Amino acid sequence: MAIKAEYIWIDGTEPTPQLRSKTKILDEPSTLERLVGINDYPIWGFDGSSTNQATGDKSDCVLKPVRAFPDPIRGGDHVLVMCEVMLVDGKAHPTNTRAAAARTAKKYKKHESLFGIEQEYTMLKPNGNPLGFPDDGFPAPQGPYYCGVGETAITGRQIAEDHMDACLHAGIGISGINAEVMPGQWEFQVGPRGLLEVADELWVARWLLHRIAEDYGVVISIDAKPVKGDWNGAGAHTNFSTVEMREDGGYKYIEAACKAIGAKADLHIKNYGAGVEDRLTGAHETQRHDQFSYGVSDRGASIRIPWQVSVDKKGYLEDRRPNGNMDPYVVARLMTDTVCSAMK
Ligand code: ADP
Ligand code: MN
Ligand code: MN
Ligand code: MN
Repeated sequence: MAIKAEYIWIDGTEPTPQLRSKTKILDEPSTLERLVGINDYPIWGFDGSSTNQATGDKSDCVLKPVRAFPDPIRGGDHVLVMCEVMLVDGKAHPTNTRAAAARTAKKYKKHESLFGIEQEYTMLKPNGNPLGFPDDGFPAPQGPYYCGVGETAITGRQIAEDHMDACLHAGIGISGINAEVMPGQWEFQVGPRGLLEVADELWVARWLLHRIAEDYGVVISIDAKPVKGDWNGAGAHTNFSTVEMREDGGYKYIEAACKAIGAKADLHIKNYGAGVEDRLTGAHETQRHDQFSYGVSDRGASIRIPWQVSVDKKGYLEDRRPNGNMDPYVVARLMTDTVCSAMK
């Protein structure tokens, strides 16, 4: 039996990279027999001149498989294959942010970083209006939509449900979903997972979301501020811990981590997704992009220490600044680098 392998990669679109994928039929008995680990999947190529990753005269880029997941869309033995983009000489392509993340994961392995990422996103009609927005004008102001139920509060629930089922089938570490503050806005969480795992799985979960929404004629946007004005933006709050933070007495490491991240606030903000200034305005449960603060329970701070964590005196912190459109390889790498390099 042939296996359909959907090779997924991240392109070179600026300022926000997009997902691409294409199908490889695996039907060679010699390949199928050996298909156990990720290294058994063949490398593949694509036309980088069509993805802003190469010029036409040197168009070939290489897809190197890094994780395989059961394909919840096609079912059976079919698979989704997350790939890194490589140059033909075997080096990482400049758009490949996973390679650096892998180096950081290895360097700070002993700190056992864990991440839980809350991916907020917006479902749009083909005309660009969010689901739940009338074609002209605006819906009733924000208030009843967050975690709401019923026709007047909620649109698009079936897509979110299908997506959650698909993630579970694929073995992605999805930990929940909720309707968000703006109509048509939803969230799913991936984690807690290690640095590379959470980032690989978040990208594949995004791919699944786009793919499932196709069948509903709905467009998925992870844009940070899809509707200007008094409407919440879409973030990707990044919850982070090291083993020291999770153990008894971990609170001092959590505070030290907040301070270490604060000392590099500008570097982080610059890498937290396109349009971060439009979202981090100081309103709508955000701290301003040009200010840094941390605090217990404070959803207006850059970093929130959850209330339960301050009671337990151990746990994790929540960096609330990353945008919905951030690259988790970049954000998780930076947080690990910044916090672990400051640890004695
Ligand atoms: P919020 O109250 O901010 O909406 P969520 O429940 O949406 O929080 O997300 C919290 C995330 O934090 C989840 O993905 C969860 O798995 C993750 N998380 C929990 N414990 C840890 C930990 N020790 N380290 C990192 N992430 C964690
Ligand atoms: Mn959340
Ligand atoms: Mn949220
Ligand atoms: Mn949050």
